[in-house]
Amino acid sequence: MRKPLIAANWKMYKIPAEATAFIGAFLPLVASQEKTEIVLCPSMTSLAVSLEATKGTQVHIGAQTMDWHDNGAFTGETSPVMLNAIDVTHVLIGHSERRQYFNETDETVNHKLKAALAHKLVPIVCVGEHKADRESGRTNDVLKKQLTVGLQGIDPAAAAPLVIAYEPVWAIGTGLTATPQIAEDAHKFIRAQIAEILSPAIAASTRILYGGSVKPDNAASLCCLENIDGALVGGASLDPTSFAQLIANSSI
Ligand code: PEP
Repeated sequence: MRKPLIAANWKMYKIPAEATAFIGAFLPLVASQEKTEIVLCPSMTSLAVSLEATKGTQVHIGAQTMDWHDNGAFTGETSPVMLNAIDVTHVLIGHSERRQYFNETDETVNHKLKAALAHKLVPIVCVGEHKADRESGRTNDVLKKQLTVGLQGIDPAAAAPLVIAYEPVWAIGTGLTATPQIAEDAHKFIRAQIAEILSPAIAASTRILYGGSVKPDNAASLCCLENIDGALVGGASLDPTSFAQLIANSSI
């Protein structure tokens, strides 16, 4: 059984006071939500207050990125050791905005994934094709490369926490959503790749999230498919009522 996971990617929004206010409003709305693992990924400066505000609840806090070194002369970076020290439990790796604006590659994704697993963080590894890839029929080639390089050298025995987020780049923040069929086909392909690269057992237990303009009104049609185990949500996670509604709708 794969427990559904819904993660909020707040990107570069919400100062600490706004994160605290969100969580204050959000917690009562999801108090009875036990079927779904809920993760909020605030900006680095809002991690501490978010951890404090969710202490003792079922809501987890994740980082939006991290470096793969434990420490060192890497100005501006945050290490897995630092995330561990404040009790962050999850981390997004290789989000398409990180790949587009901060030069992240499949190779850096691989380093980060190994570091996250070594430090017992739940890695949410983002993959997905651009519009031009889909239009030229290259979607599966792109996904295969992202996974082959991204998961290279991962010990299947240590890979159980792995989560993949399939996020077609053309659907992120655009209001365009993959049809349930497009999403399910991509998720099925990703699961088959994980079986080849890691093992069939890991493939069967790995949660694969869909991301790309998920909203309260389309969550049910996407999250109920055989190979879709939840969602990574940007825009619709910024408002507590909307995000709680999305979670409720996804678990109908
Ligand atoms: C995201 O940031 O990962 C994302 C999917 O954004 P949105 O839901 O706004 O498309």
